Amino acid sequence: MIDKRYPWQIDDYRYLLKLKGRLPQALLIDGAKGLGGINLANTFIQSLLCENPDLNGNYCGLCNSCSLYSLNSHPDYYCLSVEEDEKAITISSVRATTEFLAVSTHLGHHKVVLVEDANLLNINSSNALLKILEEPPSYAVFILLSDNVGKLLPTIVSRCQKYKLSVPDISVAKAYLADKNIANSEFWLTYNNNCPLFNVEITEEQFDLLIKVLSKPSVDKIYDFTNSIENKNNAIIFEFIIKWLSDLISYKLTGVLKYFTAYEDAFIDLAPKENTSKTFYLQDKLNFLLEWASHPLNHKLQLENILFQYQQVFVK
Ligand SMILES: [Zn+2]
Repeated sequence: MIDKRYPWQIDDYRYLLKLKGRLPQALLIDGAKGLGGINLANTFIQSLLCENPDLNGNYCGLCNSCSLYSLNSHPDYYCLSVEEDEKAITISSVRATTEFLAVSTHLGHHKVVLVEDANLLNINSSNALLKILEEPPSYAVFILLSDNVGKLLPTIVSRCQKYKLSVPDISVAKAYLADKNIANSEFWLTYNNNCPLFNVEITEEQFDLLIKVLSKPSVDKIYDFTNSIENKNNAIIFEFIIKWLSDLISYKLTGVLKYFTAYEDAFIDLAPKENTSKTFYLQDKLNFLLEWASHPLNHKLQLENILFQYQQVFVK
C-alpha cells in the first residue's frame, strides 16, 4: 500500500478519519501548500471511497474503488481545479461539477468533489459553487483546500466545517529535509514558516549574491546580483526582500529576527542606519509591484531600481 501522507500528517489524518462517522457535506482544509494538504486530502478521499476500510477507517488499497482511485478514474470522484491556460477556477468548471453530481453514486455512498485550490475561485465561480453548497445532493461531499481562507467568499467558508493543518515540529521537518540535498535547507525552512515542502527558486549563487547586496548594499553588489539573474518575473526576489525588510524593522524595534536568524550580523550593522519611513515606503512599493510581477516589462531594470532604493534606506 502506498502511503501518500507526509510524516507530520499522522494526527491530521487521524482527525479526518474520525470525521467519517459524522461527515460534514463540506470540509475546508486550511493550510499552506508547503504542508502537503493535497496529499492528505487524496488519502482521505480514497478512504471515503474505499469499499473495505480497516477498523480505523483507513483505505485498504486493494478493492475495486481503491484501484480506480489510484488510476485517477474513480467515477465518484471529481477534482475541481484551474484548467490549463486559466488563472482562476472558471464557472464552466463549476458547471461540470453540477453535472458530475447530477447522477447518483456509482460504487459507494459518496460522490466526492475536491476543490484543489479554493483560493483561485473568482467571484463568478464562487457564486456558482455556493449555489451547489447550499443544496447539495445527500451523497455529495466537498473537500476544499485553501492556502488563504481570507480570500474565500465568507458565505462559502460559513458552509464548511474547517480544519487547520498542523505545522510539523522543527525536528520532524529537518529529518524530512535531511536527505533532500537542498543548499541552505535550514534557512529555507525558517523562511517558509517551517512548512517543509518548499521550492527553492533561486540558485545557490544568486542566493549568496542577494544576501551580500542586502547585507552591505553597494553599486557593485547590485550589478553583481542583477547580472546573475535572467530577465524574468521578480516575484520570488520581491518576496525575499519584503521578508528581509520586515526582519529589519523587527530587529530594530525588538531585537528579534523571524526569517533571517542566520544573518544576524548583517542586521546588527544595518539596523542603526535604517530609516524606518523609507523602509515602510519600499515595503509598500514591493507589495504593490508583487501584484504586477508577471506583467511584461524590463524586470532587470525594475530590480535594479528597487535595490538602489534599498541602498537609500541606509543613507541619512
Ligand atoms: Zn479499498
